[in-house]
Parts: sequence; structure tokens; C-alpha cells
Amino acid sequence: MHDVLIIGAGPAGLAAAVWCDQLGLDTLVLEQMDAVGGQLFSIFGSIENYPGLRAREGREFLERFTDGIDQADFDLWTNTRIERVDLTAKRIWLQSGEQLQSIFMIIATGVRRRELGIPGEKEFIGRGIIESAARDRELFAGTDVCVIGGGDAAAETALLLAEVCATVTLVHRGKTLRARREFVEKLQSNHCITVFSESVVSRILGSENLEAVEIRRKEALKPFQMAVRGVLIRIGVEPNSDLFAEQLQLDEKRFVVVTSSQETTVPNVFAIGDVANPLAPTISGAAGAGATAAKVIASRLNRQ
Ligand SMILES: Cc1cc2nc3c(=O)[nH]c(=O)nc-3n(C[C@H](O)[C@H](O)[C@H](O)COP(=O)(O)OP(=O)(O)OC[C@H]3O[C@@H](n4cnc5c(N)ncnc54)[C@H](O)[C@@H]3O)c2cc1C
Repeated sequence: MHDVLIIGAGPAGLAAAVWCDQLGLDTLVLEQMDAVGGQLFSIFGSIENYPGLRAREGREFLERFTDGIDQADFDLWTNTRIERVDLTAKRIWLQSGEQLQSIFMIIATGVRRRELGIPGEKEFIGRGIIESAARDRELFAGTDVCVIGGGDAAAETALLLAEVCATVTLVHRGKTLRARREFVEKLQSNHCITVFSESVVSRILGSENLEAVEIRRKEALKPFQMAVRGVLIRIGVEPNSDLFAEQLQLDEKRFVVVTSSQETTVPNVFAIGDVANPLAPTISGAAGAGATAAKVIASRLNRQ
């Protein structure tokens, strides 16, 4: 029997674990991947907005964020696959057959990139689908590429690619871009970038490597193909809440609903970080939410 089971070892889960340890709680963290860090592994640009800690990219940030964490006295199981969770009973069944039991649970499972679900999206991974503009753009220098999405991430990515690519076509569904004004102004004044509004990419095409996209524009009767060598998709994120969806309240976008103490609609089950933060997902927010949950739990166990 553990005091706390934490699911997910991104910034939120790690911060919660450190606080739980400091408050004397017996804590076990379960992480599905073989390393802790979550989305930090997907950040290839600099991080300059976490007070007191700047880094050139996510891995460097993670090194400093976890500095000394091995001296903390909590258990961490990586490569751990959860089969089923009973939030009310605070019980977890692992795919390995083991069962775990706790008094409190903290859900810190973060978010994943939303997928388009169109033909070619998966087939051309590593053969033209661009994972990160900051990391991979030199591979596409001098070529024509397409960015899909209309928010900040898509706009910022298009601007980064335009520094090295011959042309960048930004395709998005909306009438106007959702990206912040600063990005929109830069997009509009960049002669390498063309924006297709009210348009969708319906197929990604090629043979050995990615060669083209099929675009449907609202005003056009027929879809048309455009030759590109690379496609980068940034259409938002989805919370990793499926495992718990039937047992607690989610909002309309499936983020976990929490109180100001980070508690979910199931008593003594907390949710922290991006999985419960649709409005302002940040590393500092995730760390702060972890501290809040740990302190509330400690006070309920009279350990504070
Ligand atoms: C490209 C990019 C740039 C960013 N730049 C910044 C920035 O400059 N500043 C900033 O503050 N934030 C930035 N962010 C956001 C920041 O990374 C997130 O807010 C932060 O990582 C959220 O932490 P988290 O722990 O809630 O979730 P995550 O980092 O998503 O971690 C969740 C963890 O839970 C694990 N998990 C999920 N499901 C399960 C399961 N069923 N069982 C076990 N484990 C599970 C995952 O494997 C993962 O390790 C950026 C994000 C991206 C993608």
C-alpha cells in the first residue's frame, strides 16, 4: 500500500514526486516510456520562460530540472504499462499482471499531438513528415514544404521553415489564422510563405519519399495536388485521459476537470499538468500543480 501513486513522469509528475518525498509520503511514480521527461523530449528550440532555468532545448532543460532527483526517496518505474485503473478503489492493474494499491492517486499523463487521420500521415514518417522544424529544417533546405494548422505552433513552425526552404504553404481550416498577431504579421510579410485559408489537406502522397499533398479549398470544386518534399502537422493536442474517461468528469475536449486544489471529481484523485490544463499548459504550471496536489495530500494525511 502506497500513500500516493503518480501516473506519468513528465514535469508535473516529477515535481509532484519531489514534493511528496519532501512531505514524507510513500510515493511510486509509473511512467510508460523508458525515460522520464514527457514532452521535454519534443522541444528542440530554446526554453527561456522557466524562472531561473534557461536551456537550448528540452533535453538540456530536463537534465537541470532533474538535477539531484536521484537523491529523492520515491520509487520510479519506467516502461510500465497500465492495463486498468479503478480510481474509486485507488487500484491499478499493470499489463505485467501486478496490482498496485494506494490511498491517493495523481494523474499526470500530459497530452499528445492531435493526428489528422488522413492517408499518408503515418506512412511517410521519417520519409517527409517533419517532426520538428527546429531540429530537421536543414534537411529540407531549398525545397517546397507544407505546414498544416492555424495556431501559434503552426505559424511559428512555418516561419522557422521559411528561413531555409524555397517555399512554405500554410494550410488551415479557418477563415482567419488563430495564431498571435505578431506571427500573422510576419507570415503575411514573408514572400516565401503562402497561406491557404478555409482549406484542408486530404491526402499525403508519394512513393519512396513524400512527393505531394492533396488540398481541398472551400471555393474550389475539385481537390488539387501540390508538389512538396516535406509536411509538418501542428493541429493542436489531445489530453491523455482515455484510461480514466469513464470514471471522472472531463471537459468537452476531454481534459480532466479539477478544483483549485487539483482534485478531480473522484475524492482523493488529483490531476496535474497539461492533462488538466487546457488553457495555459506550461512547465512552470505543471510543476506548480504538482506541488499543490502533494501539499493537499500531505495535509489530509496530517503530515504537514
Ligand atoms: C514543442 C514544444 C515546445 C514547448 N515549449 C515550452 C516552453 O518554452 N515553456 C513551457 O513552459 N512549456 C513549453 N512546452 C509545454 C511543456 O512541455 C508542457 O507544458 C509540459 O511538458 C507538461 O508537463 P506534464 O508533465 O503535464 O505532461 P507531459 O510532459 O506530456 O508528460 C506526461 C508523461 O506522462 C506519461 N504518460 C502518459 N500516459 C501514461 C500512462 N497511461 N501510463 C504511464 N505514463 C503515462 C507520458 O509518457 C509522459 O512522460 C512546450 C511543448 C512542446 C511540445
